[in-house]
Amino acid sequence: MTKKLIVANWKMNGSTEKVVHDLSFYTNNEVTNQTNVVIALPYLYLSIANSIKANFCLASQDISQFPTNGAYTGEINATMLKEFNVKYSIIGHSERRTLLGDSGSILVKKLDNVINARIIPIFCVGEELTIRDSGKYLDFILEQLDLLNHLNCQPESLVIAYEPIWSIGTGKIPTLEQITEIANLIDAFVQKYLPHVKIATLYGGSVSASNIADILQLPQIDGVLVGGASLKTDEFAVICTHA
Ligand code: PEP
Repeated sequence: MTKKLIVANWKMNGSTEKVVHDLSFYTNNEVTNQTNVVIALPYLYLSIANSIKANFCLASQDISQFPTNGAYTGEINATMLKEFNVKYSIIGHSERRTLLGDSGSILVKKLDNVINARIIPIFCVGEELTIRDSGKYLDFILEQLDLLNHLNCQPESLVIAYEPIWSIGTGKIPTLEQITEIANLIDAFVQKYLPHVKIATLYGGSVSASNIADILQLPQIDGVLVGGASLKTDEFAVICTHA
């Protein structure tokens, strides 16, 4: 049986001391030092992660919309990420869409840039509570998925993370039926439009040591994207025991 993918999204958290401490802890723990465990660090800390020899994989939390070196102050491109052994890149996280201006057209460029560099995108979709309450959430998520029909490059592998915004950092978790409904929607979309792409579907939003077992027993769910709980080494290690 394939192991579930466990992705830690540190967001803008950390310090050199924390990175060294937590990554050493994960390297010395057999449930976290595995290739199905992925840690998305702030860019600055990728070099520290590279100096620690470990089996877990690294992700970036974003990438530039501009593909190559040039006059783009503050940006990081895929070639730079590859130099630091980044295997996955989170694209379209709701915080980037709502706080940092990542529009659909920008996300298409970012997706193309990572795919071109053979970095696996972790593409996030998910609705706000008002959209869920309006009953139009399936159409909303389909519209977000539709960006994948506008890529110039075909990915070989793609990770799609369902992250309802109302669950991120709130402790509110959808029912297993609600998660399954969206996982089935993603699956139907992929079968129709991306039948040759290897897809993994993740759930993200208030994942913790106490709800992980229920979420991962869903056959439609291939793993989880973990925010807050990934900053606590003991809790994250417990989450990884369920992979
Ligand atoms: C996230 O923001 O990707 C996330 C899943 O956060 P949390 O686990 O803290 O809800």
